[in-house]
Amino acid sequence: MNEMHIIVLIKEVPDMNKVKFDAERGVIDRSSAPGEINPFDLNALETALQIKEKLGGKITVISMGPPQAERSLRDALARGADRAILLTDKRMAGADTLATSYTLASAVKKVGNFDLIICGEKTVDGDTGQVGPEVAELLKIPHVSYVSEIREVSRDRLIVVSELGDAYLIELKLPGLITVTKDINEPRLPTFKDKMRARKAVIDKWTAEDLSDVADINKFGFSGSPTMVVKVIIPQERVKSCQIFKGENAVKDLVDIFEKKGVLK
Ligand code: FAD
Repeated sequence: MNEMHIIVLIKEVPDMNKVKFDAERGVIDRSSAPGEINPFDLNALETALQIKEKLGGKITVISMGPPQAERSLRDALARGADRAILLTDKRMAGADTLATSYTLASAVKKVGNFDLIICGEKTVDGDTGQVGPEVAELLKIPHVSYVSEIREVSRDRLIVVSELGDAYLIELKLPGLITVTKDINEPRLPTFKDKMRARKAVIDKWTAEDLSDVADINKFGFSGSPTMVVKVIIPQERVKSCQIFKGENAVKDLVDIFEKKGVLK
């Protein structure tokens, strides 16, 4: 019997606590903060690692992004993934979720022979939660979203709990795709030795041309994106001031203010 092959889709996102927004252009200024693996994708990778520990097999991680996304793939290798592929090409830039999913699904086709694809439930920057289900539809495989627990796992099926509104117990026949929530596990940390090993690992880099045998490359990037962004508005933060009343006159001072403002008559 062939070994289990799990593919994990990983997006590099900016650290949302540090990132700045370019209000004029209505975009995230990605150069303003370091990139890291989307937190939900760490849960996806941990899910794959736990299944591999149980059933054996191998894990391939795939990311579409700029050349810098290589560091997130090295992080995934340090945490236990066996192979990493970066899809990087100017022709893939400006992709909406459909073009992103089409490019990722094409890469999965090129990799071939897989049993399970695992994604995060959403990203912390785009936040649509569309890519996982779209990849499954493009590959014509079944999927379950918002998986918070795996009750049973074998080579040909999973029994999972999905948090779609209420909690549902669902059987998924493989090959299939799941997207996972943060509740499913606690991602492990790589050791120093693992990090050193991953620094030297080879990362496959595929351009649009490399996928031309399995895809129509005009469907990549901006040209393959039907979404029109008309306007992006960044809400202004409201600065609120605070006054602290202390001492024996505190109540009187407060009442005076209320009276002045017409709150007390
Ligand atoms: P979600 O659907 O929330 O992600 C769910 C899961 O899918 C993730 O947890 C992960 O497992 C997987 N996943 C998502 N994205 C990737 C990925 N890239 N690689 C591997 N796995 C992934 N973004 C840019 O970075 N550069 C651009 O130039 C750009 N141009 C855009 C132009 C338009 C018109 C629009 C509408 C969007 C553009 N975006 C661009 C945003 C881009 O569409 C999203 O980053 C991308 O489609 C993923 O959507 P999401 O973040 O909502 O992912």
